[in-house]
Parts: sequence; C-alpha cells; structure tokens
Amino acid sequence: RTGWIEVICGSMFSGKTEELIRRLNRARIAKQDVKIFKPAVDTRYHHEDIVSHNASSISSIPLKDPAEMLSLAGNCDVVGIDEAQFFQESVVEVANRLADAGKRVIVAGLDMDFQGKPFGPMPSLMSIAEYITKVHAVCVVCGDVANYSYRKIPAQNQVLLGETDSYEARCRKCFHT
Ligand code: ADP
Ligand code: MG
Repeated sequence: RTGWIEVICGSMFSGKTEELIRRLNRARIAKQDVKIFKPAVDTRYHHEDIVSHNASSISSIPLKDPAEMLSLAGNCDVVGIDEAQFFQESVVEVANRLADAGKRVIVAGLDMDFQGKPFGPMPSLMSIAEYITKVHAVCVVCGDVANYSYRKIPAQNQVLLGETDSYEARCRKCFHT
C-alpha cells in the first residue's frame, strides 16, 4: 500500500490543530495505529499533548530532531505532525521517507510568520504533499476571512511563542493597516 502526505496550513486560530485532531481521531476509529509528534520548542500548554484553541487535545511526543520520527513511527499507519513550521528543514525528507514507507503523514503548521513570510519548512512540505488544505480564521478586526497572524507586541525574531496576548488573526486588509 502506498503512503502519502497531507498538509493542513493557515494562520493562527484557523483550526489547523482542530482539523489534525479530527483526522487522527477518525483514523483511530478505523483501528489504525497513530503516532503524533510536535517540536519540543512548542510548550505553550502541555509537554505531551497537542491542544487546539478550543481545548480539544491528543497526546503527542515532543521531539528536537525530526529524524527521531523514523524510528519512533515504527509500524504505525498514520503519522501526525503539529506545529511543523518549528521543525528543521530535515522534516521534509523525513515526511517523504515516512510516506515512501507506506504511511499516511498528516502535517499541520503555520504557512506564514507574523510578517507574512513563508514559515520554515512549510513551503517545501506543501510542495511535496499529495493534498493541501488551507484553513482560515476570522479577522478579529472586521470579521472577514483571515489568513494572517498579526503580532500585537513589538519583537523582531520569527519565533515568539504566544497566544491571544501576542497574536491575533487578521484579513489581508486589516493586517496591512
Ligand atoms: P490553530 O491550530 O490553527 O492555531 P486551533 O485548532 O488551535 O487553531 O483553534 C481553532 C479554534 O480557535 C476555533 O475553533 C475557535 O474556537 C477558536 N478561535 C479563537 N479566535 C479565533 C478567530 N479569530 N478565528 C477563528 N477561530 C478562532
Ligand atoms: Mg495549532
């Protein structure tokens, strides 16, 4: 049986983790063995669980190096990866190898950083994926469809872990004004 890669991308609050959890739960209902990984830098809520903003969660393994997925995935059918933008570029090769080995690989991550620039390995993951789903948030300023993560506090580094205190979802127009 052949494997494949699915990418779920979008801004903060767009429902990426929600959608990832939904797909993984359905795989479990189908009695498939599921393994879930996230980068060890993402410790906003819990060291072991991936948690969506609507507070649903699923237990995951935090990793520093994506290469660890190759051994940890073992004989599982489905590999879920959340917050993939924080992994090194090598996550792209790892996702390919897992899919080559017959696994369904579901990757969720921010497609853009707070400056509207492509985020880390996400552009490459989207290129190699068989399927891409872009989910959208609601602009907190005007209610239109939001695809940007607007940083409310001044800080220039690309990675700043935060929540509603530091980021909000905005549409194209409200992001640029
Ligand atoms: P992501 O992983 O993309 O950051 P989550 O799956 O964690 O998103 O959270 C999605 C949930 O966030 C929505 O179902 C909704 O309850 C909540 N939410 C909070 N603010 C917004 C917003 N501005 N637009 C859409 N959903 C929002
Ligand atoms: Mg998320």
